[in-house]
Amino acid sequence: MQISPFTLIAPHYCCSCGEIGALLCEYCKYNIESESLEQCIVCERLVSGNEALCKDCDVPYAHAWCVGKKSDELERLITAYKFSRAKAAHRSLAQLLAQTVPTLPPDTIVTAVPTVAAHIRERGYDHAELIARQFAQLGGYEYKRTLKRLTTARQRGATRREREAQAKVAFGPVAPLTGTYLLVDDVLTTGATLKYAAGALLAAGAKEVWVGVIARQPLE
Ligand SMILES: [Zn+2]
Ligand SMILES: [Zn+2]
Repeated sequence: MQISPFTLIAPHYCCSCGEIGALLCEYCKYNIESESLEQCIVCERLVSGNEALCKDCDVPYAHAWCVGKKSDELERLITAYKFSRAKAAHRSLAQLLAQTVPTLPPDTIVTAVPTVAAHIRERGYDHAELIARQFAQLGGYEYKRTLKRLTTARQRGATRREREAQAKVAFGPVAPLTGTYLLVDDVLTTGATLKYAAGALLAAGAKEVWVGVIARQPLE
């Protein structure tokens, strides 16, 4: 493989504001960090502290943390990462998640919601897995691939009811599990994906499942 010298010295442009320097400039990074989500990721009710799950929402995971709302700088960073081949953005996203999730027990296993195969082929990488792996590395946790996609349906453009029906049958374990897992995903829209992916982990033997998500799509 030939590497062009240009790719080695080409500057990054901030994928949010276009400033030359880093893929996410300090200014945009600060704006994301200072806009922390103080809402339940499931019902959007206000919560206190950095936990993004209220006490009333009945979900299979026991704790959840979320970097922020999918808007402004964070939305542009995710869009560049998923749709403009800005693969290196997984580092910034994992860093933001690491600043949001508290220190977890050292034996926590980090895993990712598996991506639809067609999306991996389009991008050339599994975007959720890359973030999860990098997050695990930053925190010194073990990363493990735990789930596989049982179906090929794409959620983009689907209605709430379709998403629920698709997610319900979408996930199966790659092997029996033990231990506590932090399940990582990039964007939460209706919550169906995380609900059924977490459910599949528990059904496969996981003791407890927690969730770390980059952004919450605001409810319509
Ligand atoms: Zn910027
Ligand atoms: Zn809630």
